[in-house]
Amino acid sequence: MRLTELRGIGEKTEKLFQKLGVKTVGELLCYFPNTYLSYEKPVPIATLEEGETAAVLGILERDAAVLPRNGRKMTTVTVRDDSGRLQLCWFNAPFLRSVLRAGTAFVFYGKLRRYRSSLTMNQPRIFRQEEYAEKAGRLEPVYGQTKGLGNGAIQRAVRQAVTLLGEEGAVWVSQEDFCLGRLLLDFVPESIRYNRRLLPIREAVRSIHFPDTMKQYQEARRRLSYDELFLFSAALLDRKRRTEDCPSDYRIERQPESCALLKHLPFRLTDGQAAALEEIRTDLASGYVMNRLLQGDVGSGKTILAFLAMLDTALSGFQAALMAPTELLARQHYDKLCALLLQHGLPLRAALLTGGMSAGEKREVYQRIADGTVQLVVGTHALFQERTEYRQLALVVTDEQHRFGVLQRRELTEKGGRPHVLVMSATPIPRTLALLLYIDMQVSRITELPKNRLPIRNAVIQDQERQKAYRFLYGEIQRGRQAYLICPMIEKNDTIELRNVEEELPRLRAVFPKEVRIAGLHGRMKAEEKERVMAAFLRHEIDLLVSTTVVEVGVDVPNATVMLIENAERFGLAQLHQLRGRVGRSELQSYCIFLDEKNSKSSRERLSILAASNDGFHIAEEDLRLRGPGDLFGIRQSGELLFTMADVYQDRELLAQAAEDARYLFSKDAELRLPEHEPLRLRLAAYLEESGTL
Ligand code: ADP
Ligand code: MG
Repeated sequence: MRLTELRGIGEKTEKLFQKLGVKTVGELLCYFPNTYLSYEKPVPIATLEEGETAAVLGILERDAAVLPRNGRKMTTVTVRDDSGRLQLCWFNAPFLRSVLRAGTAFVFYGKLRRYRSSLTMNQPRIFRQEEYAEKAGRLEPVYGQTKGLGNGAIQRAVRQAVTLLGEEGAVWVSQEDFCLGRLLLDFVPESIRYNRRLLPIREAVRSIHFPDTMKQYQEARRRLSYDELFLFSAALLDRKRRTEDCPSDYRIERQPESCALLKHLPFRLTDGQAAALEEIRTDLASGYVMNRLLQGDVGSGKTILAFLAMLDTALSGFQAALMAPTELLARQHYDKLCALLLQHGLPLRAALLTGGMSAGEKREVYQRIADGTVQLVVGTHALFQERTEYRQLALVVTDEQHRFGVLQRRELTEKGGRPHVLVMSATPIPRTLALLLYIDMQVSRITELPKNRLPIRNAVIQDQERQKAYRFLYGEIQRGRQAYLICPMIEKNDTIELRNVEEELPRLRAVFPKEVRIAGLHGRMKAEEKERVMAAFLRHEIDLLVSTTVVEVGVDVPNATVMLIENAERFGLAQLHQLRGRVGRSELQSYCIFLDEKNSKSSRERLSILAASNDGFHIAEEDLRLRGPGDLFGIRQSGELLFTMADVYQDRELLAQAAEDARYLFSKDAELRLPEHEPLRLRLAAYLEESGTL
């Protein structure tokens, strides 16, 4: 169903929605809020804290004053309640003077800042008491926005779309609107919904957009998260059923050459590396297909293990492939592998295959893979998406597998015979959680870092130390190092005030001296553009990279030694740790600065965990412990991950339930033949399709 069928939406607005990735009414319904504004009861002025957003009920001491300030008109008033006084100000709103008269009382809602030594509220919203009472306790959705399409307009559109969900007649619409059809067809069997007390899907969608109470929001979120986790579990079980205990055609023994190479490396394997290598080698020689996850913190040295397994495979007369998430990373691995072959005089050939290569180059590589002149192949998704024919592909390694994009492996294992699979990930997932997320795999973990690393030095700072932080970045840049500056948002959002790449770029260019080369990077840029900026950063043609979290995985620039993370309070701890892993990748001393814009008790507590530890597993456990159901307003992770709603840390119990339900269902009806499982069968097929071709 087209968006233009909604009242007030013309072709122009439709285009703006498309910019947000919303093309149909169904997709609009699935365009969930990023966060919510909650109108809490007014609090006493004396209890206000800098950085928080709050409401106060205050009486004006005198009429508002309008003063010039920096070329603009500033309206100021002082209000008081029983506990204290607070100054409020607005820019360019002299008309407020007629409303803000001495002796009247209003509720003021806004963010608190420190000006000189006292707290002020800038640009607060003004409500009459009865008006605020109506809002109090409600949650107002805040959507991702784009220029020309504000929160109010999105809300109005969603409100109309939501009413459609109530109409039975809307079902016919679903045929053209896949997303809407999906919402109308509940794929979780009724018995499960009943047992787990899950809301009907339509009610959940309605409430996630417009919850009347916190409880309603939580119920809606629980239902939508369950769906994601259930589907995910079902997909894994489906694959497990097809791959488990599968005899292998490739029995790979450890080879004398790779053992010799191991002895001549410039370093000794850590105990964790040695144990993981042993497990991998045992699997490869077992006569069954390996399906193993190698988990190890950022910088723990997973790559060399992958290389050794690949060498054993190639030296046994088969082929091995290594897939990386970006061309940049693929090239890096390829260069390292070639250097290793050369250094040790191994009689093997390697090739690089990426989407960016010319058709002619690719054709040549295909040929060499097909006739077996190449035994080792390194590349991106192009390795498998195109019509690559392997002669005897016996091992597939995927590096930095996008957090839960584990399903992507499906396509690899369907090429030719059934190769062994090794998946490498740096995401520190607590063991209990890993067991659920990787139901279908064996897990090896490396829990220590090589000994030559200096621990990253961390600092948690507040807004007033910002200039000092910039000077520190500049100092590192002057010493020939590079820096990252991470923002949570791409562009400005009128409703929620967070640092964003588009506004920071020109601001930082003005802050830093001219010779500092600054560039921006974010997920909405074209793929080639992103690669171009990253490659320039790698070649040190850029000193300061202002980026969203797109650099979270796979980026390896050893010369970058400092990272400043804006609005650090808005990210999950595990994600912050992953981001921080971009520095500290050599023997150089590295630094990570977390800017806590909120500076509340809870954000201080959370960030202090990061400041005190560089151990991903420890941080993941602490994250798990700290994140209660109260932590609802963190930024939802972007669509880059498989889960849009669920949070595997916060929702680990729900994940356990969903996995149990899926297991039970598959034990009764593995092929999903029963009529009540029909919607699930259809939905699962679509899901595998989507996640398999990501
Ligand atoms: P990750 O596990 O994040 O993929 P890498 O495999 O890229 O880490 O290793 C990071 C760096 O550490 C590489 O330069 C690698 O050569 C080096 N390295 C690997 N193992 C060891 C070790 N046991 N001792 C010292 N350095 C090591
Ligand atoms: Mg790596």
